[in-house]
Amino acid sequence: MSEVWNMWHGCHKLSQGCRFCPVFQKDYLYGRNPSVVFKTKSFDLPVQQTRSHTHRLNPDDHLVRTCTTSDFFIEEADPWRDDAWDMIRQRPDLTFLIVTKRPERISSCLPRDFGEGWNNVAISCSCETQYLADRRLRYFIPLPIRHKLISVEPMLGPIHLKQYFEQYPTAIEGISCGGEIGSSARICDYGWVLDLMLECTAYNIPFRFTQPGSRFRKGQKVYCIDDDRQKSLAEKSGACYRAEKICG
Ligand code: SF4
Repeated sequence: MSEVWNMWHGCHKLSQGCRFCPVFQKDYLYGRNPSVVFKTKSFDLPVQQTRSHTHRLNPDDHLVRTCTTSDFFIEEADPWRDDAWDMIRQRPDLTFLIVTKRPERISSCLPRDFGEGWNNVAISCSCETQYLADRRLRYFIPLPIRHKLISVEPMLGPIHLKQYFEQYPTAIEGISCGGEIGSSARICDYGWVLDLMLECTAYNIPFRFTQPGSRFRKGQKVYCIDDDRQKSLAEKSGACYRAEKICG
């Protein structure tokens, strides 16, 4: 099982995929302002030790999902990010997965010794529509990152990535895509998922369908899907291609 490292908390909405951001919904529920970005108590989790002097952060699959309640490249975290990179540098035994909607900030936020990318860092660019994919991928794809992924979540419309696969045939290690969760979730159409998967298959790019979302359209019918059935239905759909190769 992977583990989560939320070194800071809080964010600002910046695109359509943020509309029903679960971080905002949860914070409002607890009377907290989600736009205030602060360092958490888990800030130094990767270097914390147990009484028996082993690392506290030790997931079975060596995968650490970072910043699930913020964005690793958010401006407010600029003064703290070097320390976070330093802790990542100290844990080559783990893979740190960073998902961001701010790829235009990445190049100015990388550590000096990042070179062509560290082997223990995978960065995924989140693109929920074609418009956002076209805006964000031009920053993201040319960056010196060893493990680059694209996350089409929540998928809010048809997305075609063929032009990027053609232009940069070896740049992207995998694509994941899934629908939106929640009572106000927007529809995810199975046809969009299959079209993207076919593109990935044609260019030999690993693809994983992670979840249908709370409102899922297949053919003419829209299905309302409970949270606890998301993963199993995505797996049952068979919409995947070499998915075991995708980190996360
Ligand atoms: S970038 Fe992510 S965490 Fe920040 S508001 Fe958007 S969905 Fe929420």
